[in-house]
Amino acid sequence: MKTRKVAGEIAGGRVARLASVGASWHAATMSDGVEVRSAPAGGQGLFAARPFAAGATIRRIGLVREVTAERPLTAGETADHVCRIDGRSWLVGAPDRYVNHACEPSAWKRFDPDGGPEADMVALVDIPAGGEITYDYVLNTHGGGRWACGCGAATCRGMLEASWFDLSEATRRRQRPLLATWFVRRHAARLAQEGMA
Ligand SMILES: [Zn+2]
Repeated sequence: MKTRKVAGEIAGGRVARLASVGASWHAATMSDGVEVRSAPAGGQGLFAARPFAAGATIRRIGLVREVTAERPLTAGETADHVCRIDGRSWLVGAPDRYVNHACEPSAWKRFDPDGGPEADMVALVDIPAGGEITYDYVLNTHGGGRWACGCGAATCRGMLEASWFDLSEATRRRQRPLLATWFVRRHAARLAQEGMA
């Protein structure tokens, strides 16, 4: 069935589940375990529509396309929805683009081990239904800009670091298993130097 194939590609490979519930791809994309609504820190955020246990895959992250000089952002697209992956820029699809930063995140992006840009959204802690899905944006970043965080956590770092290597050693050791294959490859020398290869 052609519609099933399209649904799987857009929603991230949940073809069997979509087919079993018989949902249209649009409704399924927006309600497949997550929902977009107003976030406590302002703007919109992505929330769990059902509980996810720590370690559970929440969904496959949808990438719309690579953003390049030849194919820049167009009207209606914003840099807020662009993610740097291995030195390249990717426009993230909805609803995945609505995940906010938090200094005590509830989720992380588990990149495919082949080193490509594809990743799953994975629960880092138990997330109850209605809980916000958040990432630590500094994970897998190097050479970015610094910006103020208002996540509200008791341990909020305030000004976010421009590089993962600027995080405290304790945080880096805790996050080391979460690093993307491409980030580890790019920074292999530095990781080895710091005993985190
Ligand atoms: Zn914070």
